[in-house]
Amino acid sequence: MGEVVRFKRPTAAQRTQGNTLCRRGFHKWVINKDSRFDSRQGRLVTEYRCSRCGAVRTSAH
Ligand SMILES: [Zn+2]
Repeated sequence: MGEVVRFKRPTAAQRTQGNTLCRRGFHKWVINKDSRFDSRQGRLVTEYRCSRCGAVRTSAH
């Protein structure tokens, strides 16, 4: 019974691997389709989200 629980969780090694890449700046950016208008920059910006750590960044076009 106890062994089933282990399958559900990602191992510590897997988590560390992803976080290490993110800390180095190699995020796995995925385009968030909710593009919006940034009033500060006065133009449309595209939002990206890291599928590993959930960080968000925006890019102006
Ligand atoms: Zn990340």
